[in-house]
Amino acid sequence: MRYDRQILMPEIGIEGQKKLERAVVTVIGCGGLGSPVLTYLAQAGVGTIRLVDGDIVSDTNLNRQFLYREEDIGKKKADLAAEKLRRMNRGIRVEAFACSLTGENAGQILKGSDVVVDCVDSLAVRCIVGRYCLAEDIFLVEGAVQGFYGYVMDISRETACLECLGYHLGKSPVPVPALGAAAGVIGCLQAVEAVKKILGRKELLLGTMLQYDGLNGEFDKIEVEKDPECRAHLSCLEE
Ligand SMILES: [Zn+2]
Repeated sequence: MRYDRQILMPEIGIEGQKKLERAVVTVIGCGGLGSPVLTYLAQAGVGTIRLVDGDIVSDTNLNRQFLYREEDIGKKKADLAAEKLRRMNRGIRVEAFACSLTGENAGQILKGSDVVVDCVDSLAVRCIVGRYCLAEDIFLVEGAVQGFYGYVMDISRETACLECLGYHLGKSPVPVPALGAAAGVIGCLQAVEAVKKILGRKELLLGTMLQYDGLNGEFDKIEVEKDPECRAHLSCLEE
């Protein structure tokens, strides 16, 4: 059976596998982080995967975005990624949105998700996603990579979000430098967090940022606090 090695895990078992089959996970961005996140969620048997990306494949994507091949250059990432996942696992449903996520379409795309995994490299989109997930009380897995470095953090109404930490005020270099393998590390960690949330585990990265320093081969766990003045958190209470 496809999922024998997971069902063997006491943390998953048959019940956990059913939870994965019933889950709806939306992955925003099908690039360097999205490639491992989508691959492992599809292989784990997450029943419904929505993927969102408005870009087309370019040559400069191919150092890290392993869902694509040279012959895919010029084609839409969302359509290619969806086709790849369907061929990986015919037992799951894959819904593709070949557009960028905006304030206007966030509701249509994200509504009904059990977990959202943020794999974009735009701070503006991260803020839209963060605010929507807080407003709708959807569990959000954040992750980012830059060069040899990256972080992963889970976000809920009760714990710090990126705006609590002032990330919305920062600027990321465009294009973001990234080693493919480092993006792979962060994306794999995001997939693990999504699976744990679906299983109902409590050992999550809520209020904790897991930072990765690939150059020195180190992980650090940083406790992060909710900002009582955070606009993103306050806006979801005003409704
Ligand atoms: Zn906040």
